[in-house]
Amino acid sequence: MDIFGENVFNDAIMKERLPKATYKSLRKTIEQGLSLDPGVAEIVANAMKDWAIEKGATHFTHWFQPLTGITAEKHDSFISPTADGRVVMEFSGKELIQGEPDASSFPSGGIRATFEARGYTAWDCTSPAFLKEDAGSLTLCIPTAFCSYTGEALDKKTPLLRSMQALSKQALRVLRLFGNTSATHVTSTVGAEQEYFLVDKKFFDQRMDLMLTGRTLFGSMAPKGQEMEDHYFGSLKTRVAAFMHDLNVELWKLGVLAKTQHNEVAPGQFELAPIFGTTNIATDHNQLVMDSMKKVALRHDMVCLLHEKPFAGVNGSGKHNNWSMSTDDGQNLLDPGPTPHENFQFLTIICSIVKAVDDYAELLRVSAATPGNDHRLGANEAPPAIISIFLGDQLTDIFGQLQNGGLKRSLQGEKMASGVETLPAFRKDSTDRNRTSPFAFTGNKFEFRMVASSQSISGPNVVLNLIIAEVLSQFADRLEQATDFDQALKELLKETATNHKRILFDGNGYSGEWVEEATKRGLPNVTSTVDAALVLTRESTVELYEKHKVLNRTELESRYEINLEQYSKQINIEALTMIDMAKHQIIPSAVKYSTQLAQSINAIKTASSAVDVSVQEGLLQELCTLLVSFKAKLSTLEKDTQKAITVTDNAYALGVFYRDVVFKDMQALRLDGDQLETIIDAELWPLPTYAQMLFML
Ligand code: ADP
Ligand code: MG
Repeated sequence: MDIFGENVFNDAIMKERLPKATYKSLRKTIEQGLSLDPGVAEIVANAMKDWAIEKGATHFTHWFQPLTGITAEKHDSFISPTADGRVVMEFSGKELIQGEPDASSFPSGGIRATFEARGYTAWDCTSPAFLKEDAGSLTLCIPTAFCSYTGEALDKKTPLLRSMQALSKQALRVLRLFGNTSATHVTSTVGAEQEYFLVDKKFFDQRMDLMLTGRTLFGSMAPKGQEMEDHYFGSLKTRVAAFMHDLNVELWKLGVLAKTQHNEVAPGQFELAPIFGTTNIATDHNQLVMDSMKKVALRHDMVCLLHEKPFAGVNGSGKHNNWSMSTDDGQNLLDPGPTPHENFQFLTIICSIVKAVDDYAELLRVSAATPGNDHRLGANEAPPAIISIFLGDQLTDIFGQLQNGGLKRSLQGEKMASGVETLPAFRKDSTDRNRTSPFAFTGNKFEFRMVASSQSISGPNVVLNLIIAEVLSQFADRLEQATDFDQALKELLKETATNHKRILFDGNGYSGEWVEEATKRGLPNVTSTVDAALVLTRESTVELYEKHKVLNRTELESRYEINLEQYSKQINIEALTMIDMAKHQIIPSAVKYSTQLAQSINAIKTASSAVDVSVQEGLLQELCTLLVSFKAKLSTLEKDTQKAITVTDNAYALGVFYRDVVFKDMQALRLDGDQLETIIDAELWPLPTYAQMLFML
């Protein structure tokens, strides 16, 4: 309790340190989205500075979230010179509200020519300022939005804030129709469960692939993987527990509600989940979680891997994005209450989400598309790239009844009998769990499970907010016109349940049959980042985003370019890293081993012609054959990687080339490389093995 929020300029601190009128005015801006009074900024800046300096801070920074997906900060000290050669500590309202970082080295997807390098950061007062602590230095971080000179969003925060406004507006229209007049604001809420791997730093340091790409590009599977199911929820190793403790302390100080921690399915894999909050703060906090994980791990001589697929052959990492929306007077709109079949407001909201997810499945898919996530989505180790919804027995039953035009009964959660007298009887949840659904209703929220472990959660939540806002607006348009509300609502729900039941699926989403079934149902199955990007510039997408003022055409086009550009760049880095490792590590070790074998054969033969050297000869033969094949594949990869540079300047075509040619070459090369690992002397093999990396923590 004492350390929680210690490094946050939170509500309690503001109340304590700001004049009453200033505090009230700021609260209004935060709560009701009213624009900020400039006089207020001056006073807040001063209070913030005093607080930060008392804590030991020397610098401040506008902390923003460019389209790289991570955060950016440029530090300025508070010092300002005086005439007598000394300094005073200053921080003005203007410095709080606005910054002007040179934007030319951030991705802009062509929005900003380099000669118009000016970018602006603007204070987001809805997310509290905080102090970042690093090796004793403290920096005041002010969460900001980042835009170009011409006003386009160059970041992940601006569209998120815009989408939250759109959702609030449309959700309120629907609430009003149900007679709710007290709510003035609806906010989407998010709890992001973060999965990650830890590896010992001494192994990490010997793996160029982990260092430069975050994943292993070579590596044959260890004799043991996750098949014993003994890691999930297992007892924490001391070293990991110590890391988690430090991480929690760090996060609690930053006001992050770090709550749950456990071993995940794959060896070396873990998860942290915070208590949910408003989407904007949850997104900022998730960035702090990822950043802190990496820093704290280093203090424990470990490295935290946030990549979606650091190791082939065991589970990858994702981020479960738990999403709901609630009113400013505290009502969770996805809470079914005790009698969901009678709760028509709830059913309307559920129907709007089902329709939104069905109508805009591809937008959701593109929101989770990253080169790393391509290894998870639609690859042989699921989750699939097909979007479907799991509602659970109770809601599926209600949905069926809606289709038939009426509601008669409801499946109630029953008492659960454990068969052991001394155990308490408890009520069964009305939905069982389904671990394979990409979009599952989990009692009072939806869990979007496709999200990539390393990505910002902004994108997926922008899409969720936007598409649900759109369908709510369609519902409101229709119902506001109705003369008989009850009748109109009944028809609307019936129609929605009938038209969108194809998106509901309660079975095993990882099975081959589901892929077939989904194709029959006409559900899209977009298996790569490159194809997913195409959705961004579709006319219907532009219309949707522009209607709700979330992104305009230029901003969407820039995101299209950036998605593709980042894909190609990532594969290019991976290809070059593989080439480097192949040439400088793997081939030399194979050559050394073959020389040793040859010398051994010669030496033995010289010593005695009666000794059988067939094992050495067989090995030498196998090794040299593999080496020839490996080298040939390496040459192909080198040639194609070279070719990629000249192939085209069309971002899509280039992405296709990297995916269909370069990436395929990499897979082929890896097969031989991994085979070599299995026969070369362990003493000569230059890379830490999967067994070491996954099991030696
Ligand atoms: P599980 O792994 O079983 O899905 P966790 O406890 O790990 O469950 O994660 C559930 C997440 O959902 C937590 O971050 C929790 O705070 C969040 N959550 C709970 N209620 C809501 C809500 N109304 N809106 C958004 N997120 C929520
Ligand atoms: Mg979960």
